[in-house]
Amino acid sequence: MPGGVVIAGAGQAGFQCAFSLRAEGYDGPITLVGEEPYLPYQRPPLSKGCLLGKQDLDDVGLRPAAFYETNRIELQMGRRIASIDRAERRVLLDGGGELGYDYLILATGSRNRLLPVANAILGGVFYLRTRDEAASLMDGLETARSVVVIGGGFIGLEVAAAVSSYGMNVVVVEPQARLMQRAVGPVVSAHHLDLHTRHGVRIALGAAPAEILGGGGGVVGVRLNTGETLPADLVVAGIGVIPQTELAEAAGLRVENGIAVDEYLRTEDDAIYAVGDCASYVSRFGGGRVRLQSVQNAVDQARCVAGGIAGAAKPYDAVPWFWTDQYDAKLQMAGLSNGFDTEVVRGEVESGQFSVLYFRGGTLLAIDSVNRPGDHMAGRKLLAGGSTLTADQAADGSFELKTAIPA
Ligand code: ADP
Repeated sequence: MPGGVVIAGAGQAGFQCAFSLRAEGYDGPITLVGEEPYLPYQRPPLSKGCLLGKQDLDDVGLRPAAFYETNRIELQMGRRIASIDRAERRVLLDGGGELGYDYLILATGSRNRLLPVANAILGGVFYLRTRDEAASLMDGLETARSVVVIGGGFIGLEVAAAVSSYGMNVVVVEPQARLMQRAVGPVVSAHHLDLHTRHGVRIALGAAPAEILGGGGGVVGVRLNTGETLPADLVVAGIGVIPQTELAEAAGLRVENGIAVDEYLRTEDDAIYAVGDCASYVSRFGGGRVRLQSVQNAVDQARCVAGGIAGAAKPYDAVPWFWTDQYDAKLQMAGLSNGFDTEVVRGEVESGQFSVLYFRGGTLLAIDSVNRPGDHMAGRKLLAGGSTLTADQAADGSFELKTAIPA
């Protein structure tokens, strides 16, 4: 079979693998296979600028078509890989055809978790991960008046912020006791609860949907497990994603909350790597195996694998960082705060410009910043290694974080 690199999945991670392979000087064939019919595009704007009407859905592409031609990146868009034949080093495509590989990179990403209730896919219930889903949601919003957002994580809250700016009635339903609990600490959760409330969004914490109520072919409301019924003509569910590991599993590769990879992001088959949302790796920032869903993780892991294939292998060790935009609050997170024992606030939460630094056993774990980009950038450098920043220094507003960055 002809060799080269086959990349399964054309999201941010898959695209970046192709881009970085050429940037690293890899000269063999590269084939990018993607299920969606579009050229590789960015997902973050879908729930931010696009939903706010500030960015066109046609402007989310990562590179124009000419880029792929110039760089000899063969695109197989609108195609799915059906299976991997590890012995013969080839993938079989749905609908026929096969591609041989020297290296296969699994960048298969994730899919929406569906609401575990009756009528979860009724017309009027929307999800938001793809361009097509964004387009349908925007169509639905044209005529909607009352919107129920299910899930108080990043997607749900970005949607709530955008939709409320159009003057619609919005309720967010979140079963946990606080917002964005997976990713941030209590101070940030409380700040964002207040932020949404001030913009007229009602946040129902500790409540889960029990049933989507339909009528006349659409949605008329959501019954909660608290007994309350919320009227709604449009429901958006942002309740997390599930990694797409089926191809890897069927090929006998190990899956542990994601396709398990080593420090070089290789699966147990030396010819197969996994990157981005679908991959789980051991991170010094997570105290064990983690699976991260972020642009940073997709891009940096792709660069790492491209370096490995092009002959400059280095272990993956990037500082995780994330962001979310809601109203005028840019929340930037660096590191992983899970398991912290001390939290230190810099600045005034009420001012809408503050950071929270998380420590465990005296060591900095993570920093969340709201409208303090300088703190975020300093935090990324502090977390990269060798920082001696103490909680007392962090709490001292006159202490400059950047002075603790190792030379
Ligand atoms: P995303 O990035 O897709 O928003 P997050 O993990 O940040 O994903 O947020 C998902 C949110 O959805 C979490 O706050 C979680 O508690 C909430 N959630 C999960 N399952 C349900 C459910 N069945 N009903 C309502 N909310 C849910």
